[in-house]
Parts: sequence; structure tokens; C-alpha cells
Amino acid sequence: MTAGDSSEPDGRVKPLPADVDLDAVRDALISWYEADHRAFPWRRTDDPYEILVSEVMSQQTQLDRVVSAWEAFCERWPTVEELADADRAEVVAFWTDHSLGYNNRAKYLHEAANQVVDDYGGEFPESPEALSELMGVGPYTANAVASFAFNSGNAVVDTNVKRVCHRAFATPDDDRLFEEAAQTLMLEGESSVWNNAIMELGGVACGKKPRCDEAGCPWREWCHAYQTGDFTAPDVPEQPTFEGSRRQFRGRVVRALSEFDELPLAKLGPRVRVDYGGEHGEAWLRELAADLDDDGLVAIDDDGEETVVRLRR
Ligand code: SF4
Repeated sequence: MTAGDSSEPDGRVKPLPADVDLDAVRDALISWYEADHRAFPWRRTDDPYEILVSEVMSQQTQLDRVVSAWEAFCERWPTVEELADADRAEVVAFWTDHSLGYNNRAKYLHEAANQVVDDYGGEFPESPEALSELMGVGPYTANAVASFAFNSGNAVVDTNVKRVCHRAFATPDDDRLFEEAAQTLMLEGESSVWNNAIMELGGVACGKKPRCDEAGCPWREWCHAYQTGDFTAPDVPEQPTFEGSRRQFRGRVVRALSEFDELPLAKLGPRVRVDYGGEHGEAWLRELAADLDDDGLVAIDDDGEETVVRLRR
């Protein structure tokens, strides 16, 4: 795929490059997520009540701090019925004691619990549309609960997802295109694992200051930003600073190999830096390629006469 090729001959701007290999991109992200991710306890449940509580708490509080508050809340009011029965003042006091932000959120959560009990007999509705009828539950939270509890959500499009799509696939900075990109990337009926995975990517690898290599980003092979060295994003207007420009050179190796599949060192070098040679000659390039080999991105073949670097597929 040619990363960043996002306009069509008809002139319509596309949310994703036309030749993106969706299956490969999806598999890479899900495998990366399933191999290792932050172990937030609400990721181990599909109880819509517990998920709703985690989402409401996360709206204003850092995730690491939400964990203990969420555990205490679910221990004190383990079911939607028990929350509905609780004294509202006690719920608000809990919110204040745990520094969870606006008290109104506690009141709305209590009200939503009453709606679930009174209007739905204690069973949460499953669609984002019905969930968004609950008090204090906006479209984002409704979709998150539908995704994580019922696998029936749409693709989440938050600032993390926009940043990732913009960098990886050069999705133009336009909300409609971001939505289209996110929805196209997600496999229908896989909203739980997909939304968790792409948000994890935005949280631990593709933050404002990206950690592409350190976090082993599974999209480096396709990523427009990684290949061009332009890591700006809608919420990162200035190019973030990195230690050295090694990442840019790594990106250029991957880009050259995406085009040619494999290249001997002597042909790869000049494509990676204009001043190839001397201090930044073959030994330097071998080390760079060895790093990429360690990360599983390239393979190095040496027949004793020539060293060839190729992209691993
Ligand atoms: S390679 Fe870097 S910039 Fe690209 S999606 Fe991964 S973390 Fe983001």
C-alpha cells in the first residue's frame, strides 16, 4: 500500500488509502493488543453496569486513579438494583470522597440506574441509541457500553483514535472522514476487542509523543507518519521532539522496502539518507537493519557476498 494516498481519481477525499490491506492491519492490531495490554479491571467484565460506572468515572479522572474508585464503588453497590436503591446523597458523597469530578455525574449515574430498573426491569438495553436515552449517557459513553458489554457498538472515535488514523493512514482532519475510517477499520461485530485495541494503541504507543518502536507498534509497516517522519496530528499541531532522528531513519528503511520488497545494503543506504557513507555508511545501516530485525519488521539475508534486507510480511 502507498501510505497517505488518500484521494481518488474522482477527486473525492478518502478516509483511508485505497489499497490498505484491512485484514492485515486488523490482525496486526488485535494480536498486538491480545499479547499485552494494560490490565484495567473493567476490561475483564462484560457487565454493562460495571462498564457504565467505569466510563462515567473515566470522563474526568485519569484511568490509573479510576481503578481503586471503581473497585470500591462496585463493592459498595454491586448491581444496578443496589445503586438504584441507594441514597443519592451517599452516592454523591462517594464521588466527592474519591475526587471523581463534577457531582452531577454521580446524580446522573444514580438516575440512570433507576431508569434501568424502572423502564427495563433491571436489564440494560443493548443498542447505543437506547443506552443514550439514559440520564447523563452521551453518544460516546452509550457506544462504549454497547461495545464492551454487548459487542454491538460502533467504532469509537475519540481524540486517540483520530490521532492514530491521521498518523497511520493520513486520514484528513475531518470528523466525518475519521468516523468513516474508524468504522471501515473495525470488523462488524468485533467492537469490544477492536475499540479496546485501538484505544490502547492511542494510549500506550501513539500518544502525543509517539513511542512507535518502544511500544512495538504493530502498524509501523503501514504507518504514514512512521515512514515520513511527520508525527503531527489534529491534537499535536507541532512536530513532537524525539531523542535523535533514528526513528525517522527506521521509517525510511521500512518505506523503501515497502516499495521494493528487498534491497541490498548498497542500494538501500542512499534511499535512507542523502549523506549515506563514512560515519553513516554500511556499519551504521547494518545496525539499523539489525534493530528492525529484532523488532520483527525486516529480515536480513547474507550469502557471504551481499547483504539483502527485506520486509517481513
Ligand atoms: S507507527 Fe508510531 S505514529 Fe504510526 S501508528 Fe504506530 S505509534 Fe502511531
